[in-house]
Amino acid sequence: MDKRFVYADNAATTKVSDIVLNAMLPYFSEHYGNASSIYEMGRNAKRALELSREKVAKALSCEPNEIYFTSCGSEADNWAIKGVCEKLGPKGKKHIITSVFEHHAVLHTCEALERQGFEVTYIPVDEKGIVKLNELKNAIREDTATVSIMFANNEIGTIQPIKEIADICKERGVIFHTDAVQAIGNVEINVKELGVDLLSLSGHKIHAPKGVGALYIRKGLVLPNFIHGGAQERNKRGGTENVASIVGLGVAMEEAVKDIPQRVERVTRLRNRLIDGILQLPHTRLNGDREKRLCGNCNISIEGVEGEALLLMLDMHGICASSGSACTSGSLDPSHVLLALGLSHEVAHGSLRLSISDETTDEDVDYILEVMPKVVNRLREMSPLWEKIVKAENR
Ligand code: PLP
Repeated sequence: MDKRFVYADNAATTKVSDIVLNAMLPYFSEHYGNASSIYEMGRNAKRALELSREKVAKALSCEPNEIYFTSCGSEADNWAIKGVCEKLGPKGKKHIITSVFEHHAVLHTCEALERQGFEVTYIPVDEKGIVKLNELKNAIREDTATVSIMFANNEIGTIQPIKEIADICKERGVIFHTDAVQAIGNVEINVKELGVDLLSLSGHKIHAPKGVGALYIRKGLVLPNFIHGGAQERNKRGGTENVASIVGLGVAMEEAVKDIPQRVERVTRLRNRLIDGILQLPHTRLNGDREKRLCGNCNISIEGVEGEALLLMLDMHGICASSGSACTSGSLDPSHVLLALGLSHEVAHGSLRLSISDETTDEDVDYILEVMPKVVNRLREMSPLWEKIVKAENR
């Protein structure tokens, strides 16, 4: 078996595409002006910013003046939730609703607000990783300031019923934020048809660079500033704009929403090959709904195997993957997302996330499927946990 390099961790981050890189390069070397400067180079930078804003807006079917650039998806999440709470808290609305399996950018923001006196209800998800709408309906109160539910989960890829959630929030007069960092380019998103009030996105999940994101704020909803400073972003977010990255984000958004159905079809076929191939191994289970999931996401629990050890062995074979989300690796706690599905700590520990992209090929999938049984069998041979499982089975 020839060793290959297979990048299967696109949910953690993606490669900057050539088209994005080429669009960005002149903004480092020629058009490096500050977008607030009045001379021509500054005006060029400003024009590039506004063009990018138009592209992001078009990709989401909203107005350019509803898009605010941020330094990342985490900042957009923080701004959305803290902004609504800062605005409505003093009016007596001190309750937030979110789900148990949000990204930490949302969960830790909610925890910070709890320390400031806000109350948070964490809605459970079903065993397939879909938010329970009835629980959401029952949780909304007179003093609910905001609901924040992610569009698609970063670990198990499940896509949430965003339109239904937006309808519930609208009916009850509650501001709805969705973290769409993982959904962009995988699902058609029209913020007006969906009826969301706030939506976060991030460049590095869609082949733009790390360190750039955006927040959609519905016209008519005025949030307090998150970063105080200069007059950038129509006085809403101080800080000299990262022009090159914003240019990259605009191009990446344009590319991401092109031909979504065709891309989803192609990537889904490859992903299903991966899922079906790995599920051939005994004592494995797919985490998250099979249909309502991102086309590139394969998250499988493999009993009798330690996730970290599996990742290291896969790395030795040139395969980049993840167990739990990249943001929590380094921590030995089992993933809060997998626990939310009802998995035991042991099973959650032995989970693997492979996230493929439109650059993944059939040969890459063949290679992963060739490596996986060898690696899993080797780890199981060494695992006391596996011995226990086999003994219990033969009893
Ligand atoms: N939200 C989700 C669902 C994510 O997957 C991520 C990144 O992994 C973020 C937010 C944070 O985005 P960023 O890395 O741009 O801060």
